[in-house]
Amino acid sequence: MNLIESQAKAIFAAAGIPVPRGRLAATPEEVRDIAAEIGGRVVVKAQVPIGGRGKAGGIQLADGPDGAYEQARQILGMDLKGFKVEQVLVEEAAAIQQEFYLSITTDRDRQANVVIFSTEGGVDIEEVAEKTPEKVIKYWIDAGLGLRDYHIRDIAFQAGVSTDVLKQLAPVLHTMYGILRAKDAMLVEINPLALLEDGRIVALDGKMQIDDNALFRQQDIAADKREEGEHPLEKEAARRGLAYVKLDGHVGVIGNGAGLVMTTLDMIQRSGGKAANFLDIGGGARAEVVRNALELVLSDPDVKSVLINVFGGITRGDEVARGLLDAISTLEIKVPIVVRLAGTNAEEGLALLQGSPLTPADTFEEAARKAVEAASA
Ligand code: GDP
Ligand code: MN
Repeated sequence: MNLIESQAKAIFAAAGIPVPRGRLAATPEEVRDIAAEIGGRVVVKAQVPIGGRGKAGGIQLADGPDGAYEQARQILGMDLKGFKVEQVLVEEAAAIQQEFYLSITTDRDRQANVVIFSTEGGVDIEEVAEKTPEKVIKYWIDAGLGLRDYHIRDIAFQAGVSTDVLKQLAPVLHTMYGILRAKDAMLVEINPLALLEDGRIVALDGKMQIDDNALFRQQDIAADKREEGEHPLEKEAARRGLAYVKLDGHVGVIGNGAGLVMTTLDMIQRSGGKAANFLDIGGGARAEVVRNALELVLSDPDVKSVLINVFGGITRGDEVARGLLDAISTLEIKVPIVVRLAGTNAEEGLALLQGSPLTPADTFEEAARKAVEAASA
């Protein structure tokens, strides 16, 4: 379960990590009132479960209540990567001197929690890691030993931050580690952790990921499980009983079996593209399920091509083909659809598809390549 900024910050504040003063609002009028209460410059922040809200226009500064009202009118109702903004966080604006990145997450390879710190915060940490890996400090925590002051000093020393920063970083990091364990979190992230003009350190953003398997003992967090946390297409998929996850690329993917679909995502990546979704129609999928799946994938405006990858075991190729033909006869098809059928009744299936607008592919590689090419055309 992903927590949004306001949820993460409430947990931070309760644990003693400094966060800016502020409150949630759902209307421009409330935003104006909160801004008046805070006084001075404020920041209005869209509360949606995605990163990069700033770049997408979901975070705006305002000089006072009237400006905040205007910004809120722009932001509330806005669509940010498929999420409608229904709430904004209104906070006192920070005078930022420097932005740090700080998180603790799980490193599965090392079977340990890892602290990630960078003096190049605020922006995409993946980008920093790629361009200037030396600026991303990683520190693996020995669970038996815990996180000690000398570990934090080592992190600060490697990053080259001042003693003043270190003094404030240490309690923040200790508290984050405490939160990670107490809340069964797989990620606790502050980006940016800001050094203000006046020398204080404040968490300007917050993100947390809670292990779903632990929600039974995280009752208060589970109770907060907001439906908005899911992408509208994921909600629609759940209604249709489809195993679907929205991703951020442009090739729609439909396959049978989670393993095959995962491999398909990899193959698309290897062919230079990016998948728009994960969709597993499962074993033995009937024509109706195939139709349903294709309809859902095609309703995603990000989808520029579709790759249907079916390996017939208990799923029969002719049944899949019938579902596809049924779907394309009733749906408006605006993007190329590449189909790879193998296994049980694949020949019968491919024969049925002859003369249809679907593009057949003989091999997995060819299918991925054709779908990627079609998406970038
Ligand atoms: P994100 O884009 O979704 O990660 O949202 P953030 O909360 O991290 O905000 C993005 C950027 O907006 C930050 O890195 C800051 O540069 C800027 N920002 C956020 N809050 C404030 C603020 O109170 N004052 C100023 N000056 N900038 C802010
Ligand atoms: Mn951020």
